[in-house]
Amino acid sequence: MKVPDSKSQEDIAKSSYFGLPALDVAVAFPQATPASIFPPSVSDYYQFDDLLTPEEQAVRLKVRECMEKDVAPIMTKYWEKAEFPFEVIPKLGALRVAGGSIKGYGCPNLSITANAIATAEVARVDASCSTFILVHSSLAMLTIALCGSEAQKQKYLPSLSELKTVACWALTEPDYGSDASALKTTARKVEGGWILDGQKRWIGNSTFADVLVIFARNTATNQINGFILEKNTPGLQATKIENKIGLRMVQNGDILMKNVFVPDEDRLPGVNSFQDTNKVLAVSRVMVAWQPIGITMGVYDMCHRSNVDVAIDSPRRDQVVVIKLALSFIIGYLKERKQFGAPLAAFQLNQQKLVRMLGNVQAMLLVGWRLCKLYESGKMTPGHASLGKSWISAKARETVSLGRELLGGNGILADFLVAKAFCDLEPIYTYEGTYDINTLVTGREITGIASFKPAAKSNRSRL
Ligand SMILES: Cc1cc2nc3c(=O)[nH]c(=O)nc-3n(C[C@H](O)[C@H](O)[C@H](O)COP(=O)(O)OP(=O)(O)OC[C@H]3O[C@@H](n4cnc5c(N)ncnc54)[C@H](O)[C@@H]3O)c2cc1C
Repeated sequence: MKVPDSKSQEDIAKSSYFGLPALDVAVAFPQATPASIFPPSVSDYYQFDDLLTPEEQAVRLKVRECMEKDVAPIMTKYWEKAEFPFEVIPKLGALRVAGGSIKGYGCPNLSITANAIATAEVARVDASCSTFILVHSSLAMLTIALCGSEAQKQKYLPSLSELKTVACWALTEPDYGSDASALKTTARKVEGGWILDGQKRWIGNSTFADVLVIFARNTATNQINGFILEKNTPGLQATKIENKIGLRMVQNGDILMKNVFVPDEDRLPGVNSFQDTNKVLAVSRVMVAWQPIGITMGVYDMCHRSNVDVAIDSPRRDQVVVIKLALSFIIGYLKERKQFGAPLAAFQLNQQKLVRMLGNVQAMLLVGWRLCKLYESGKMTPGHASLGKSWISAKARETVSLGRELLGGNGILADFLVAKAFCDLEPIYTYEGTYDINTLVTGREITGIASFKPAAKSNRSRL
């Protein structure tokens, strides 16, 4: 075949329908309802709800209702455009979950379990919204609550708890991700305050945050200190990181600080070394562990979609077990869509995938719940939190990829949630300590041996 040169390629006659907008997904694929109409929650197979207090159940229902009604219809549009849905901030604020477990200063004083359930219910419908709240609440607000002065708490927490202002939390730097404790941004003492110089990367909400919690190295003590910066401080700049494949609605930024003056009253008195961030990370890691739980609940619900009665012939012919599988779209999807003359749900391989997903969700919920209880009883160790985060995110990765497979081609379309959730899980697997780093934290706790640094090279091999 003769390949036309570029001029003739331009001359190729365009069809009359060339360049038309895509068909609406409801027309293109009428069998399946897109994720804008969110299906009922049906992943609670082992009746996890029974483990929750009435207050925790109420938080769960309140958050679920808002997310399904107000966020589900618009999320794909924003995700595709990689824009933040500012219109949902007042709705999320009205839920009164920002500030989670913080007591006083207008914060909701939720139990860790209620906070975790709220995180999961937001993530079930949209992981970007849950990351937005998590960075704002469980990282930035909690750092101010645990490490701030009384004046700082009174000044910042009330409006942050209502989401009238938004915060971000900046630890990671271009050269220091997993090795964040080695960060290089400097804080130099001057009369009346501090001068900050350096760079941060990946900082969620930073492009529009009113309040920025920044970690920097004190040039006199060589220790890590924490500072509160306000939007538009001279010398401060935050620009959006483009082209993310996951959590596309979250505005992650590169922060540049050149000769930024921070007054003494905006230094966090409770951050005097990197260790001081641990009490914040203890809570935030539990919350991050609940994001994959929520995401997989949503993927399962989406795959299931409709309440169906499935009649299964037991080996004894007189006994027909009717199992009420109220698992939403995947089963609905799998029962409606036929290939080779049979519904997809009739193939054993597909049933096995669905059951693996369901089993994973039950196990993740129970591990996440136990983590909350260990925290609430004062028994949770860093190893517990890290195992929860790493194990749950790994199981979730397996679960969303099964969901993606089950939807075939539609499993790569953001319209059906599953592809979006699949992509959103990737950064969660990596942030707040990667899978590997969290594994090493637990490994250190159970063996007493730290393995974060490569084994020292010996001069000569013994072999
Ligand atoms: C979407 C998103 C949002 C984020 N939001 C924030 C935020 O709001 N604030 C903030 O401060 N940071 C944020 N981060 C940064 C995040 O915490 C880091 O990406 C994370 O800590 C990993 O660092 P890194 O990306 O530099 O990977 P690297 O540290 O370069 O790691 C690369 C790979 O090497 C592995 N590795 C590294 N060290 C070891 C080791 N010792 N042993 C074995 N394996 C190792 C890692 O597990 C990983 O697989 C965000 C990141 C993302 C992607």
